[in-house]
Amino acid sequence: ETDIDLSDPEWKLKFERDFEKRFSIPHITDAFPDVEAIPSTFCLKMRSPTYINNKDRVLLKVINYSSPASAGAVCIDPGCTWIEQWLHRAGPREKIYFRPEDVRAAIVTCGGLCPGLNDVIRHIVTTLEIYGVKNVVGIPFGYRGFSDKNLPEVPLSRKVVQNIHLSGGSLLGVSRGGPTVTEIVDSMEERGINMLFVLGGNGTHAGANAIHNECLKRRMKVAVVGVPKTIDNDILHMDKTFGFDTAVEEAQRAINSHYKKTGESRGRKSSEIRRDLTAYHGIGVVKLMGRSSGFIAMQVSLASGQVDICLIPEVPFNLHGPDGVLKHLNYLIETKGSAVVCVAEGAGQSYLENTNAKDASGNKVLGDIGVHIQQETKKYFKEIGVPADVKYIDPTYMIRAVRANASDGILCTVLGQNAVHGAFAGYSGITVGIINNHYAYLPIPEVIAYAKSVDPNSRMWHRCLTSTGQPDFL
Ligand code: ATP
Ligand code: MG
Repeated sequence: ETDIDLSDPEWKLKFERDFEKRFSIPHITDAFPDVEAIPSTFCLKMRSPTYINNKDRVLLKVINYSSPASAGAVCIDPGCTWIEQWLHRAGPREKIYFRPEDVRAAIVTCGGLCPGLNDVIRHIVTTLEIYGVKNVVGIPFGYRGFSDKNLPEVPLSRKVVQNIHLSGGSLLGVSRGGPTVTEIVDSMEERGINMLFVLGGNGTHAGANAIHNECLKRRMKVAVVGVPKTIDNDILHMDKTFGFDTAVEEAQRAINSHYKKTGESRGRKSSEIRRDLTAYHGIGVVKLMGRSSGFIAMQVSLASGQVDICLIPEVPFNLHGPDGVLKHLNYLIETKGSAVVCVAEGAGQSYLENTNAKDASGNKVLGDIGVHIQQETKKYFKEIGVPADVKYIDPTYMIRAVRANASDGILCTVLGQNAVHGAFAGYSGITVGIINNHYAYLPIPEVIAYAKSVDPNSRMWHRCLTSTGQPDFL
């Protein structure tokens, strides 16, 4: 969907003119101009063909639609009709800014669980070892591990992490809330940590950026590198984040299992869904992840082909009323005898009581829209005198805890390795992601400015509506 023709003088001119438009990323030499760059031996050791040149660029997006905003693109410059912005390409550099023997690296995983965390930890550790780092530790239970004296560091080595990707979860554990940035940096100083790899979502990255700034303030030569972890796929600019593909696959399996006539129980909730929805006038309400962005619900609906109604936070809907969800459910029961509703956890929050409750990290606690839809559906069918067997399924924890699938496994491998390359290259306050099919480094503030969301005017959302056949519930 890009339209680049470099033989066209107008395009060529634009490219030449905009070549310097690149997100600048902080480098250790900004604060320590005298720090010595030493030659890397990484590629020699790995017989890699070559190092990445610092001037290599990855194009963030080229869009030449008449209206990019309505094409579902992330528009950096609102109102523009096309965008070009270059990024630093990720990978090993010829010159490194840390002596491997001086490095004490730490890894921390924060926020909620997400498939692939162990894969990323594993590749950070193994890549650090190839650089020659001997001192790598894991901070247990997120940022909390920096301040809780009862949580000792976990020494990490290739031997320790060899098989951790075979199970889900995080070897190090996760948490929300915890110490202040000052306390974290105090603890880093005490422990002598000069490379910090932070795996987490928007909150974790806000923390990582604050840690980076605090280190600069204290004139500590530290590289802080993030690896974005969001199962919701709501981090800006990135094609996708790790765990998302696995989540879609698992959720799709759960929904589709309803249609298996035979087949063994998987020993998980999927068998429960099958049993429930093959019931007479069975209605399954499946809640999936997606606090502010409905990517998982949308992709699962597209992938499974069995979802009749997909509800996401970005698209308001009426439950009651002549054009509401409940009326459509009745139509589905009359015409096909069963229905599946797939709802993202952040959808329809206006129907629920706002408790103003916050979790330990300060995130708003959402009401349970799945339970609400189940209750309202039951009530509605009772009122109209039509029998309906309404079941609510919440496979979110099962999905969060599975191990990464093959495509996420590969993504985690590349992200983990590139995080280490970025730190050795002297960058700090950065994160790494796949962008336009290439791996790139970005300044943290650019990716956490706001959450990426599904554009209701995008082709993808319309494809989803075409697939489910659902009307506008307005
Ligand atoms: P998830 O996608 O699972 O929600 P997250 O990284 O957004 O991941 P949070 O629980 O919001 O998860 O935050 C993780 C950690 O980052 C917590 O320990 C929290 O205290 C810290 N944190 C959150 N926001 C900030 C911030 N603005 N500045 C410093 N630290 C923060
Ligand atoms: Mg978050």
